[in-house]
Amino acid sequence: MKVRNVFNRISYVYLVATLLVVLGAGVFTGASVVRQEIGESIIFEKHPILHVQFDGNWKLSYEEAAELALYFDALYDRLGDSPYPAPSEAQLVNLAYEVLPIFNYEGFVLPQFPSDLDLYPYQSGSNHIHIAGQSNCSGFVLNYRFGNPYSSWYNEGSWVAVAIHEMVHVQQGSLCGSINNLYLEMSAEVISIEVMAALVNYGNRDMTYALVRELRGMAASAAYGLALNEGDLEKYVTLRERLMRGDDGRPDSFKNAGWDKSRRHWEENPERLEFILQAYSIFPLEKIVQSILYIDGAYDGLIMPPGFVIEYPNSPDVYVPGPPLILDDLMYFLEHADELVDQYVREKEE
Ligand SMILES: [Zn+2]
Repeated sequence: MKVRNVFNRISYVYLVATLLVVLGAGVFTGASVVRQEIGESIIFEKHPILHVQFDGNWKLSYEEAAELALYFDALYDRLGDSPYPAPSEAQLVNLAYEVLPIFNYEGFVLPQFPSDLDLYPYQSGSNHIHIAGQSNCSGFVLNYRFGNPYSSWYNEGSWVAVAIHEMVHVQQGSLCGSINNLYLEMSAEVISIEVMAALVNYGNRDMTYALVRELRGMAASAAYGLALNEGDLEKYVTLRERLMRGDDGRPDSFKNAGWDKSRRHWEENPERLEFILQAYSIFPLEKIVQSILYIDGAYDGLIMPPGFVIEYPNSPDVYVPGPPLILDDLMYFLEHADELVDQYVREKEE
């Protein structure tokens, strides 16, 4: 990951478009502008970095998200069990000390160490079941369930990615409290993935597990959301069954029970589900794919210092982003994922 100025023609047009994003608006305005620049006829056989075929349409389709989910799932299945211990406050501190300087090394401002970080036992049922981690923009907590041997979340290797995501909110600082959640979450997702890829590229083997797992979850959830948008949940149900099958090819009855329970919950809260799937999965994955396919890995419009907000007394605030983030570590990782996963598995067996 490098933050640098890329003022070729396309990113200039896109930067202008990004400046027009008014805080609080619900959709991006940049896409159509770039699309006119690039044309609509880019159709790849199988993209050399992303390993699936794209239809050349700027918007991420259900089929593209589903193919990505299957690709990441095949990598994930080779990795075996989570290499991470259950988290404790001490584990979170260790992870933060290892990860935060990478933000700076890769071009962001000097890292803010979280003012506090710990596991938190939520009392509200909804928070207990659905919130993995939470940041108040200066510190963060992970759900206590990750560290509780009595919980179904115990030994869930996803906590590392959640913690790194929350660390990004701490780096977003004052922006974290002032900008539309959708953009904040998108940025936190993409930055945390790029930081994880950078760590893998610096030789952090276990981070391969955290990264592949996060990419798999993001692509599967994006497919879920896109199927819901199309009013065709059935096609996601079929995909999900393929993704969730155990090593022996049999269906996972406990995961199926959990899925059925979550569908009953979300049918009563469809707007909340839509926001979650957009902010954490559809939009960040779409942005990653667009960046890699069309703008050499450049992510414009990041919500992160040195971006800043201009306040106007009688009209909406405007966000002026910093230079684009180049997803060079993620691109390297994706291009070489097969051989990296191969070595990870080989070394574990030795
Ligand atoms: Zn977040």
